[in-house]
Parts: sequence; C-alpha cells; structure tokens
Amino acid sequence: MTRVAGKVAIVTGAANGIGKATAILLAKEGARVVVADLQEEAGHNTVAEIKAAGGEALFVKLNVTQEADWQNAVNLAEQTFGKLDIAVNNAGIAYNGTVESTSLEDWQRVQSINLNGVFLGTKYAVEAMKKAGGGSIINLSSIEGLVGDPTLAAYNASKGGVRLFTKSAALHCAKSGYRIRVNSVHPGYIWTPMVQGLTKDAADARQKLVDLHPLGHLGEPDDIAYGILYLASDESKFMTGSELVIDGGYTAQ
Ligand code: NAD
Repeated sequence: MTRVAGKVAIVTGAANGIGKATAILLAKEGARVVVADLQEEAGHNTVAEIKAAGGEALFVKLNVTQEADWQNAVNLAEQTFGKLDIAVNNAGIAYNGTVESTSLEDWQRVQSINLNGVFLGTKYAVEAMKKAGGGSIINLSSIEGLVGDPTLAAYNASKGGVRLFTKSAALHCAKSGYRIRVNSVHPGYIWTPMVQGLTKDAADARQKLVDLHPLGHLGEPDDIAYGILYLASDESKFMTGSELVIDGGYTAQ
C-alpha cells in the first residue's frame, strides 16, 4: 500500500470523523501524518491507531483560527518529518440558522473556523510546499458549498467561500509555477460525530437526511477519505482547482 509513500501530510480535525479516517488511510498508504486538532485525547487516539497498524504519526494541538498554531504545526512537521507534501484542511463546525435567526457573533464564529481556518491552512501549506518543491492541498467544502439551504445561512456561506478560495489559490500556485495543486471536496451527509450531533434530537432526523440521497443511505468517513487520498496522491497530478463531489447523488437531482 504505497499510494502516498514518502510523503508527509497534515490533517486538521483528525481526532474524529472524516479527518480521522483520512489520517489513518494516508498513513496506511505510506504517508507520515501530523494529526492536528483541538481535542487532545481523541487526537492521540488517532495517532495510537496509526502506530498500532505500523504507521508513523504525531499529534499537535492546533486551533485552525490561530496563526501561531499554524506556524507551530508546520514547523513541527518540517522538523520531525523533514517537509510537508499534503495538507488536508478538514476541521470545521456545523451550524443551523437562517438569515433571520443567525446572530453576527455566530456568523463570525462559523466563518472563522470553516473559512479563515482553511485560508490559514492553505497559506502556511503553500509556504512549506514551495520549499518541498510541490504538494497537494485538499480543502473540505460540502454539498452546502454547491447548493443553498435556508437553514444553513452561515454554513452555506463558509463552504461556498472554501469552494472559490480553493480555485483562487489553485490558479495562483499554477501560474506561479509552484507545482502545488489545490482542490476542494464536497461530501454529502456522512455519519460522523458532526451529523450524529445534528440528528440526536428527533427520532426521524437521520431518516430525513437519508432520504435526500438517491443511493438511499448516508456516507461513511472512508467514502470521503478515499477521495482525499486520490487528490493527495500523484494519481491526480493533472487536477487543480477542481471540485470532487462525493454525495450519494444528492446534487445530481
Ligand atoms: P466532526 O465534527 O466529526 O469532526 C471535526 C473535527 O474538527 C473535530 O475533531 C473537532 O475537534 C475539530 N475541530 C473543530 N474546530 C476546530 C478548530 N477550530 N481547530 C482545530 N480543530 C477543530 O466533523 P466531520 O463530519 O468529520 O466533518 C469534517 C469536515 O467535513 C468539516 O469541515 C465539515 O464541514 C465537512 N463536511 C462534513 C459533512 C458530514 O456530513 N459529516 C458533510 C459535508 C462536509
């Protein structure tokens, strides 16, 4: 299993859900992985799982909104593993609210984590990857970055922002001759702690989400991790500024 052998990756939000599955899969396919998250205990568990399977990983506490944390995380990757080739900007939060019910404070919190966090992660990754001679950056958007939902005003805006920011960064890197690719991933509903939290209050909430997907079920974290692995590997070397939609048919309707 060597689709990303010799590469060094950082995955944010890797203590849970999609980020955890991605960190484990990248390590299984040969990458050395920096597991970055706010949650220390769960983050260390991801590292322990990787090591138990014979992989290499370390944990760093990172708040994606804090520039100093990014400096520290990228330095750690370079000092410990020598370089940075892959950055997966995955950390994010859900937030339910319409344009009327969302306060400015909540709006700004969502943009700060979901959009500013991706901006900072991309910015610091580009700097490191220029030194490494190239790389691949993968930013987690959503189906909610492609279509509107009246109950997700702030989340829609943050994920739409990730989608177009990714294209801007991809074009900048390509036109600068950096050999750094930047792509976005757009999952449908995936059964992770985020979605478990969204559905815990109503018995039929999970089924309502299932019904939105023509394939008739929710996705699993690995469904997204395999797409991220493809974008991280050289198999996708002609892709940049692209949108990889993995949504059980949600946006095909
Ligand atoms: P999750 O809530 O299960 O896990 C998110 C992780 O991010 C957690 O470990 C959390 O501690 C971490 N995190 C949150 N804020 C952080 C911060 N400021 N700094 C560092 N880490 C932080 O979420 P998930 O469902 O695995 O989602 C991962 C990404 O995929 C998110 O960006 C989400 O918006 C996106 N996404 C998820 C779904 C889905 O259905 N689950 C669908 C589309 C897009």
